[in-house]
Amino acid sequence: MAAIFDGFKYQDHVLCSDGVSLEEVAEKVGTPCYVYVSDIISKTYQELDRSLESIPHIICYAVKANPNISVIRALGQLGAGADIVSGGELFRALEAEIPSDKIVFSGVGKTREEIDSAIRRKILCFNVESEQELLMIDLAAKSFKRVADVCLRINPDVDPKTHPYIATGLKKSKFGIPYKKALDLIRAALRLKNVNLIGLGCHIGSQITETKPFTDSLNRMLKLYDQCAKLKCEFSYIDMGGGLGISYHHEHPPTVETYTQGFIKELKDRKLTLILEPGRSLVGNAGVLLTRVLYGKRGETSNFIIVDAGMNDLIRPALYSAYHTILPARYKKYKKIKASVVGPCCESGDILTKERRIQNFQPGDLLSVMSCGAYGSSMSSHYNSRVKIAEVMIHHGKFHIIRERETYEDLISKERVPSFLKKAAAVPA
Ligand SMILES: *Cc1c(COP(=O)(O)O)cnc(C)c1O
Repeated sequence: MAAIFDGFKYQDHVLCSDGVSLEEVAEKVGTPCYVYVSDIISKTYQELDRSLESIPHIICYAVKANPNISVIRALGQLGAGADIVSGGELFRALEAEIPSDKIVFSGVGKTREEIDSAIRRKILCFNVESEQELLMIDLAAKSFKRVADVCLRINPDVDPKTHPYIATGLKKSKFGIPYKKALDLIRAALRLKNVNLIGLGCHIGSQITETKPFTDSLNRMLKLYDQCAKLKCEFSYIDMGGGLGISYHHEHPPTVETYTQGFIKELKDRKLTLILEPGRSLVGNAGVLLTRVLYGKRGETSNFIIVDAGMNDLIRPALYSAYHTILPARYKKYKKIKASVVGPCCESGDILTKERRIQNFQPGDLLSVMSCGAYGSSMSSHYNSRVKIAEVMIHHGKFHIIRERETYEDLISKERVPSFLKKAAAVPA
């Protein structure tokens, strides 16, 4: 009964974190619900921040991993900036009081409205992903009589050796400026009057568990820096994106120390500020999904354990065949069976695990699906007209609801019934 995940442990057979029992949370808040532990988030952030203390750096939390404003705020209070990919995320980051000058705006499809609002807010920089976007930002900045700071996001064509859906730095990927075209675009950017090129960036993918893809892409980026120096163009920033993996099961991602040493070694003699955009590695293992077993059932060839959380709440297993460890919130001696843990959605893909040897959980048992702090709630949907579930934050022995469970009224609140579908008024004779 050893601690399996840092920050979660069984105390008197009950799974707890920071002095709060997950059973108690489920009883008060209902299931399913997401639970995040602020102390785990802080410790993870501070470890990364400290390991970079020998070089100038800004850690811009990738909001898309978990956009709850309390999560962003918890990181912001420790000094984090934000990496955003939409106007909605800009809104959230500002609501969470992230200083504008620590916000970087990434993404291949920024609209004019989104660009305008980011210029108005004077963010740290846009991470530009194409020539047309660069021209659009120049035009937008001109209309505000301003100069917008930009980094160019380069696609270094490095294989991150991760799931193809979350690899973003390969030649065939839609992300970034092709490495071979980078110098041309840098020259073009230098000619524009309303953009100021402050650096280069890359983000090669997510859930990366080796160091080499990071150091390879850093080396490719630095090669570009050296070529730029010949153009008499000196940058202040290098953005190495996010992507550091976490351990869901048997993965062994590099330690924070190993990960950052790779950057420090190359950057310590250069006058560059390192920007990192971690998402998953900051919050992934700081959160769990609590779900209750509804039924057990024997199919002709498989066993099923049916729980109250569906793929609309956590899509990672269905989308990426992702593995999540499932622990009982109350430790008992269970018989093991081979079973699939499935949700209530009307899709065969609605699974938490497929055919895994697992405890023979019984109806009413509370389960904790581990490593759900990143890309859990943020990828949830209303599929099957299921409401978005509550989110809770544990902080020093207490828990706080940081998002209420939606109601059925919330589900339809933006829908409008046109008059022709309303009960016909009596036609006058
Ligand atoms: C998704 C994303 C990140 C965060 O990735 P993680 O794997 O969660 O660290 C960072 N930067 C950009 C541009 C992204 O799209």
